Amino acid sequence: MRTVLRLKRLMPEVLWTMCGNRSCSNSSIRRLESNTSILKHLISKIIATGPISVAEYMRESLTNPVSGYYVKNDMLGAGGDFITSPELSQIFGELLGVWCVSEWMAAGKSSVFQLVELGPGRGSLASDILRVFSQLKAVLGETDISVHLVEVSPKLSQLQAKCLTGDQTWTCNDDQLVYRSGTTFTGLPINWYHRIEDVPRGFSVFLAHEFFDALPIHKFQRTENGWREVMVDIDPESPEKLRFVVSHRPTLASSMLIQKDENRQHVEVCPEGAVIVQKLANRIADDGGAALIVDYGHDGTKTDTFRGFKGHHLHNVLEAPGMADLTADVDFSYLRRMTGNQVTCLGPVTQRSFLKNMGIDSRLQVLLRSCHDPSTRAQLINSYDMLINPEKMGHRFQFFSVLGRGRLAQSQGSQKNLTPVPVAGFTELTTQ
Ligand code: SAH
Repeated sequence: MRTVLRLKRLMPEVLWTMCGNRSCSNSSIRRLESNTSILKHLISKIIATGPISVAEYMRESLTNPVSGYYVKNDMLGAGGDFITSPELSQIFGELLGVWCVSEWMAAGKSSVFQLVELGPGRGSLASDILRVFSQLKAVLGETDISVHLVEVSPKLSQLQAKCLTGDQTWTCNDDQLVYRSGTTFTGLPINWYHRIEDVPRGFSVFLAHEFFDALPIHKFQRTENGWREVMVDIDPESPEKLRFVVSHRPTLASSMLIQKDENRQHVEVCPEGAVIVQKLANRIADDGGAALIVDYGHDGTKTDTFRGFKGHHLHNVLEAPGMADLTADVDFSYLRRMTGNQVTCLGPVTQRSFLKNMGIDSRLQVLLRSCHDPSTRAQLINSYDMLINPEKMGHRFQFFSVLGRGRLAQSQGSQKNLTPVPVAGFTELTTQ
């Protein structure tokens, strides 16, 4: 299971050789018949121009437009490589649906409400949220609600279309920012985009569940000569294999991306994550809204977290690129720093704490009361335990929110009593 397994030592010291430039002869390409096309492509590239950054390796492996892992696979669920919270239990998406509506209300019930999800997987989270929106029709009233999915994978966008619209979508011309459009089962307009910047401006609640961990990271090692970038090179002992090396000289990334006060020996930095969180922050500051980022991660403390998953097991990150999931823990302290001072950030708090604050226990009881089938009841209880047990997903996953600056200063009631409206999930939900 993706959430419980950990690599003890991802990169043995023996791999940390100091690298020069190319380390492989041209004849190595001929020996690659049994390897993935991405591996062949990367080896040719390294032969031509030298070792590549871990970020480039990760980007090619995951989102290469022809054979990237996300581009051609449905990797989620029991038959895939990993399982995620929205796939495990409907309660997860339902509680996030309540969170979206609660933030829309707290921000003044904007007449336009865009639900924007980054990396929607199979569409299960959005589907559960839309069911909540339908149930809360009386609260949402005549609000102009629309759904916007940012998805790089054509394969997964098809699954999302099926899950959310019953395949009632049409594809759009290449010159348009939207690549697929339709109407959800619940009657809302829904659009698909490749990039966040293509989503129309307007009040939005952004959700990113297990999205940031898939963005490419650079890896850096502190050496006696200062910070050096970890690169991916061809293994001279075995020219159809890759290995990690430490660059001799500073790279652009090692000069630009390390904080001055950094005190770890090894760091992973995700500049694409920074760009995306800055875009979310700019939009929230300008157009209103909120973002909820859920991922496994840390608050600037962890070091070597880059790992691979295949068939629910850990997988050597440098083997069979494009055939396995590659992921790194999200550094929430970095995301917070990158949002600047135009927004307010909350968290990270653990998944257990967030879901408990959102009322997961009561929701489970309601579902159990109306369910008499023993196997469904057992499934509900098991998935609940999986979500909140500290040994399982409960402490491993973190919730982090980006909110408008005024959000926590909003007044409630009279001018004299300026009580901020609590942000659901981050404080215990009370009946008010
Ligand atoms: N949120 C889903 C899926 C998580 S897997 C869940 O929790 O079940 C990561 C998702 O992000 C996939 O849908 C993948 O195709 C998408 N993705 C990965 N990199 C992306 C990128 N750079 N841009 C847009 N989507 C991306």
